Amino acid sequence: MFCYQCEQTARGTGCTKVGVCGKDHTTAVLQDLLLYAAQGISMYAHRARALGASDRAIDIFVLEALFTTVTNVNFDPARLQGLIAKAAAIRDKAKDLYEKACKKAGAVPEKLGGPAALVFETTLEGMLKQGEAISIPSRREKLGDDAAGLQELLMYGLKGAAAYADHAQILGKESAEIMAAFEDHLDFLTKENPTVDELVGRCLAAGELNLKVMELLDAADIWGKSTWDTEAYLLQCREVRGPGRGFPCAGHQAIESVHTPLCRKRSRPGGRDRGDVVAGSRGPLRPRAAPWPARPRRRKRLHRGRPGPRAPCDRPRCRPASGR
Ligand code: SF4
Repeated sequence: MFCYQCEQTARGTGCTKVGVCGKDHTTAVLQDLLLYAAQGISMYAHRARALGASDRAIDIFVLEALFTTVTNVNFDPARLQGLIAKAAAIRDKAKDLYEKACKKAGAVPEKLGGPAALVFETTLEGMLKQGEAISIPSRREKLGDDAAGLQELLMYGLKGAAAYADHAQILGKESAEIMAAFEDHLDFLTKENPTVDELVGRCLAAGELNLKVMELLDAADIWGKSTWDTEAYLLQCREVRGPGRGFPCAGHQAIESVHTPLCRKRSRPGGRDRGDVVAGSRGPLRPRAAPWPARPRRRKRLHRGRPGPRAPCDRPRCRPASGR
């Protein structure tokens, strides 16, 4: 595996054997493949949109695919496999949308390659082979460290913005302009030989996109003034039980305002409370937190303050000689 997407990365250069966050090789490769699939979907969706056709289900899936691969959000290989299979179906839907839009406009559809044409394997072994072929080390070899690094920077910017955009759409705020920008950037990432200048420009544009997404989220009235229903939101949260301790739970400030009281109650050593993702629960939802693992109690000190006069020792060599 190779991953250098977050600040926890090993030695500041990249996690190669296992992620500092706990991500393993299988998960890392499946996440790479899921992102590749999202790029394939976007190639069609971006072109269809230019012809005036779009599909909300496709757009939402792209957001979810990006959000899924943010650090600590989803490390479940079985679920990632399911998402890749779903991505293949959504890509076919996007292709269909594009071809129909072309027909309507009297245009000839482009023949697209790369992630738009990849036939996704259905077995784990097959998916891992496909994922390894398009992972970061292979792109670093092909494009060099600068271009591959900037591609990743752009992708990480999109992932972060997608996390917020996904929250916004859950809260009922969506924007066609923002979705178009996501799909445009993902389509750009499939370009064969991007220059460093192009990539830098795209990274800056991704920063601007993030600000627009934050505006959208602000407009969602998250502070409960009118439409935000805390109870309804919490009912939507999935409860995921699994081995291990902890309650990875968090979100941006808005979601945090709902989650924080829960996190405080439930987080235990080993759990994470991150500020950038809503990860779900790894601990059972209970009204009261389980007690923290008991620490061994300190033994009470026998003497407080200065010890009193010691009793005389009665060992023979210490006993005062008779007559002295
Ligand atoms: S996401 Fe995990 S594997 Fe990737 S760099 Fe961060 S700690 Fe390492």
